Amino acid sequence: MRAMRILVTGAAGFIGSHLAERLTARGDEVVGLDSFDETLYPAAVKHENLKALGQRTGFRFVRGDLSDEQLLDALVGARPDVVVHLAALAGVRPSIVQPKRYARVNVDGTINVLEAMRAHDVKRLVFASSSSVYGARPERGAGFREDEPAARPASPYAATKRAGELLCSTWADLFQIHTAALRFFTVYGPRQRPEMAIHKFAKLIAEGRPVPLFGDGSSARDYTYIDDILEGILGAIDHVGHLAEPFRIYNLGGSRTTSLGDLVKLLEEALGKQALIDRQPDQPGDVPLTFADVTRARAELGYAPKVPIEEGVRRFVVWFNRTRRSGSREDAP
Ligand code: NAD
Repeated sequence: MRAMRILVTGAAGFIGSHLAERLTARGDEVVGLDSFDETLYPAAVKHENLKALGQRTGFRFVRGDLSDEQLLDALVGARPDVVVHLAALAGVRPSIVQPKRYARVNVDGTINVLEAMRAHDVKRLVFASSSSVYGARPERGAGFREDEPAARPASPYAATKRAGELLCSTWADLFQIHTAALRFFTVYGPRQRPEMAIHKFAKLIAEGRPVPLFGDGSSARDYTYIDDILEGILGAIDHVGHLAEPFRIYNLGGSRTTSLGDLVKLLEEALGKQALIDRQPDQPGDVPLTFADVTRARAELGYAPKVPIEEGVRRFVVWFNRTRRSGSREDAP
């Protein structure tokens, strides 16, 4: 396949920085946009995420915000082959506190990307959506499927992601912007956002501090290792020009669930240290289960998750221990 020119929004984040590395490693040219937003975690961590990329040929970083329409116009006006729109405010709980801010970035920001693409006739988009759009879905013993209505998102964050999907679908129909919307299921691995469960728990256990466990420990997540997610995104980038429909949704998950209690046990084993558990009531906005049916991504994007949670947690802890020892990012404020 010939090398592509790709605009990645959110390139200084957890998934975006890994993606930019993978793309440049295979010879694609990447322009990365990010505002170093500090709503969820410090900008210092994002600077660290970009360190390995700084020296790469084929990578250019632009600091800027999705609300800057002129900047988007200039970046999309350079006519990349594909736009991968990852920039967003992630996280369920903070979105309940700042819903308007989430809407501005995740909804208005997505419209700005779509409008710049329309203006410059850029026709291929990969959009980062989320498993949270499924809401508190009743357990039916089977994985969540893309053709379910996803009509009751349980948090403002989830609602903004569902809104983003719907907007992409409309722009696909009106302006033939072909879009793969990827519903990521809890992504983890090196550089995982520090406020997310695996990273946060690892830090608390390592420091001998109590781990707040919401609910009775039976809530379960489909955890997806970063390398598997990257394979899925690459599959989407390569196939988005010829999808079955102009707008198509794909689940990217590990296709297996792990309870919160079992996750803590895996971390204890990998870290060689017992957790102090601090039981807390269920949190509003949290859902009891996420579980991906990945049949469609497997058939159409060649997606095949390979890293089981046991192995992924071990790999995460190797990275976690190394960064703690070197005092780099774990010491960030
Ligand atoms: P992240 O927070 O590490 O990365 C998102 C990046 O977007 C950040 O670096 C942030 O600075 C940037 N950003 C935020 N607002 C911006 C703005 N207004 N202008 C420009 N840049 C801005 O998050 P992540 O975990 O890498 O997630 C990437 C994407 O995947 C997000 O859209 C997120 O909602 C989605 N997602 C992630 C997960 C997961 O488990 N990590 C699960 C489902 C969906």
